[in-house]
Amino acid sequence: MAKYCFGVDIGGTTVKMGMFTNDGSLVDKWEIVTNKEDNGSHILPDIAKAIDEKLAKKDISKEDVLGIGIGVPGPVKKARIVNKCVNLGWGVLDVVEQVEKLTGIKNIKVGNDANVAALGEAHSKESDKDSIVMLTLGTGVGGGVIIDGNIICGSNGAAGELGHIQVRFDEEDACGCGKKGCLEQYASATGIVKEAHRYLAAHTDETKLRSIECITAKDIFDLAKEGDKVALTLVDSLGNYLGVACSHIASVVDPDGFIIGGGVSKAGNILIENIEKYYNIYAMEPLRGKPFELAVLGNDAGIYGCASMIL
Ligand SMILES: [Zn+2]
Repeated sequence: MAKYCFGVDIGGTTVKMGMFTNDGSLVDKWEIVTNKEDNGSHILPDIAKAIDEKLAKKDISKEDVLGIGIGVPGPVKKARIVNKCVNLGWGVLDVVEQVEKLTGIKNIKVGNDANVAALGEAHSKESDKDSIVMLTLGTGVGGGVIIDGNIICGSNGAAGELGHIQVRFDEEDACGCGKKGCLEQYASATGIVKEAHRYLAAHTDETKLRSIECITAKDIFDLAKEGDKVALTLVDSLGNYLGVACSHIASVVDPDGFIIGGGVSKAGNILIENIEKYYNIYAMEPLRGKPFELAVLGNDAGIYGCASMIL
């Protein structure tokens, strides 16, 4: 008889929900609105209600539910306690205790959203590796470290904050975290564009970038693929920053490989090739040649990873 589990990926605007069978197949997915009113106190009751309704609709007993995996956009300790999640209005919250109480379902596991997405990608059919590091290049740079199938959280739930690895020592502008020279300042979508403007202000070379009113990271990759020399220089420099960061990461955890996700990863192979090129220069010899792959699950990585915490 089939058993089920739920993957619940809580975001700032929506909660993505997935129902899986015990072999990890997704049978249903849907979204509910994240109600952040009253310090986010409605979020977990809303999730419990959505699960109850889904089980009733499909005529499934709670005895056939193996557990619920939950991803939250904040630091998580001991796979249960969320330590201040400003995006949701939460202070310190024992999510496991709350959700057990609300649903009557035991076996609740909680993880940071970036870590959980990494777990989802690690266990995806295309990858299926036990130890991977995922870098998510979006508005910021997030990360997740999975070693021997386990999310690495650290003592403060801050392990895997890969966007704040320092890759430059002469930076004068501050990162959102307060430090200067963080990877996120160069490898996030906003950082890539900022670096382009810096280059254009400091040089006079001809490039189609100068004719674009509002440059995006995509413009830079598109022009690089067309052979625009300045765009190629910018992508090369991006590969340099990511390559050196990945070489440091590899020195600590020696993963089976790296996965690159987030909106910026839509650039595809040109991005991967430039990271690999520099990674193999900076990494020590036994760590060279690791595979770099593009993320495949997109927005569903979170719910898959949440389910993986249970299965
Ligand atoms: Zn930073």
